[in-house]
Amino acid sequence: MSPLPDEWSEERKKMVELQIAARGVKNQSVLDSMLTVPRHHFVPEKLQLYAYEDRPLPIGEGQTISQPYIVAFMVASLEPASRDRILEIGTGSGYAAAVLSRIVTMVYTIERHEILAGEAKSRFKDLKYDNISVRVGDGTSGWAGEEPFDGILVSAGAPSAPDTLLKQLKTGGSLVIPVGELGRQKLQRITRQKDGGYTRENIGLVQFVPLIGKEGWGESE
Ligand code: SAM
Repeated sequence: MSPLPDEWSEERKKMVELQIAARGVKNQSVLDSMLTVPRHHFVPEKLQLYAYEDRPLPIGEGQTISQPYIVAFMVASLEPASRDRILEIGTGSGYAAAVLSRIVTMVYTIERHEILAGEAKSRFKDLKYDNISVRVGDGTSGWAGEEPFDGILVSAGAPSAPDTLLKQLKTGGSLVIPVGELGRQKLQRITRQKDGGYTRENIGLVQFVPLIGKEGWGESE
């Protein structure tokens, strides 16, 4: 897959080389995808100038599009394969779902803010990314009817890994999720084993907005 030739191609290339590959993300399909997906299309127009900088940016509704490196690291931690079906919780701008969609067969993504979900949907339509399904709702309840998933990515910080999401994983599949206090979390990779148990690895420290829902934080937190 070659990158779209747009006026931001050079910026995107620098982002991938200097912020992502240089920091140790080696998964070629993730690097290729991030070279392809036009990140400037996923931020408010007045912030496009900053789209390829090494930081999160506001997207409205008090939410953010994550730092490019964090998106790359989390997606690579899922070890996605081309035949996979992946669930993402916290669509936000749609950028992480778009990056995943260039790697796997199908992405299901859930966002609790209707406005953000609508904007993400129209971005996917504009870009002709037709292997992404968006739903408005509480992602801590997962996506019954489409389970089990090869991997689940949670793009918001949870008090603990929701049981419902763990149950919607295939054997051998992983849930990548920030877990811990508000404002600072451990990034965990939780993998479902053949015997029905789960292994947990701490793979980094991150700072995410809260996962709000039935198996997340309360509305007022
Ligand atoms: N992946 C996004 C991107 O690429 O732009 C960034 C996600 S942003 C850091 C976290 C998102 O999670 C916010 O848009 C927030 O509204 C959403 N969120 C929080 N709790 C949620 C829940 N229970 N279900 C679905 N979305 C939720």
